Amino acid sequence: MSKMRLNPALERLTPFSYCGTGYPVRLDANESCVPLSTEIRGELAAAVENLNLNCYPDDCAVALREAFGRAFSVDPECVVPGNGSDELINMIVGRLIPHQGLVLGIERDFGSYWSNAEIFGRRTMRLPREADMTFSADALIEGAKRYDADLVIFSNPNNPSGSQLSRAEVIRLIESVDCLVVVDEAYMDFSDQSVLDLAGKYENLIVLRTLSKAMGLAGARMGFAVSDPALTFALRSVRDAYNVSAADQAIATVLLNHPEHRARTLAEISRLMRLLKARLNGIAARSKQAMTVYPSVTNFVLVRLEDADAVAAAMHDRGISLRQFDRQLIRISVAPEETLNRVLDLLEETIC
Ligand code: PMP
Repeated sequence: MSKMRLNPALERLTPFSYCGTGYPVRLDANESCVPLSTEIRGELAAAVENLNLNCYPDDCAVALREAFGRAFSVDPECVVPGNGSDELINMIVGRLIPHQGLVLGIERDFGSYWSNAEIFGRRTMRLPREADMTFSADALIEGAKRYDADLVIFSNPNNPSGSQLSRAEVIRLIESVDCLVVVDEAYMDFSDQSVLDLAGKYENLIVLRTLSKAMGLAGARMGFAVSDPALTFALRSVRDAYNVSAADQAIATVLLNHPEHRARTLAEISRLMRLLKARLNGIAARSKQAMTVYPSVTNFVLVRLEDADAVAAAMHDRGISLRQFDRQLIRISVAPEETLNRVLDLLEETIC
């Protein structure tokens, strides 16, 4: 027997990886389905070509933070970029809160909160959702107090439900608890309930944003934590040196300097979401099995089916990947119109 000692959490962990699953059509990761314009692609190529890749990147990421600050009206001094917001979640859960800390959130939120808690041996408390898959600020406030949480973390708008807490509710939550509150606004470009402008105002608030969703830059990996100066200093103190590559910084900076790209993407995604929701509701009305389509303010829709396995299997046979959570819940990301229609035709064939 090997005497090697490894993290005991490994007994419960499996790799996060889609390698080798080979689905040509992926509606499972909530990426943007709107391609970058030829003009932006040209600028990106030039920006990367001019890099001195023999040197480390700008560790202060000055141009990038300034571009983010301009695009989202925040003080660049309060911004810490990460290798995707995933890396920032890892920093917060693994390095910012105490080792014995308790992480409180909602059952079936973004999985990275819970996998990081597991890896770092943090205690967790996941509150149940209401029957309609929503949750309330009151539940989080009450939970934070009852379980003496060190961190309250949730996505708003919420993955996978597509629901959201209002800005007023989030503010009430931040003001009602003593602990750190992380509002993961990965999908906030699709909504108007952001608390990003308050990130410098509350000493217990970190807002996370990402360029992976509405901004269409999932491949480059770029996320941002925005918080007050003390928390910003703390995050900078625990992050790895040079955590954001020179290429990612250059690419993200170019994109952030093109506000029209965000506007165009949002308009197209909103059109495709109307189509997706209308067709799903039509299918639900005719479905032979019980089907609930949950309202969504994001770029995906959560659906409850009596038998999600049958749907996932039919999709699998045609090389289509949806995100299945259990035997009843699947999440469908918005996609270009032709792909959406193909996937929805197949869904209709399978269950109507
Ligand atoms: N937060 C939420 C709620 C997400 O759904 C995702 C990606 N699915 C992320 C964070 C991770 O984003 P990034 O690509 O910036 O790591």
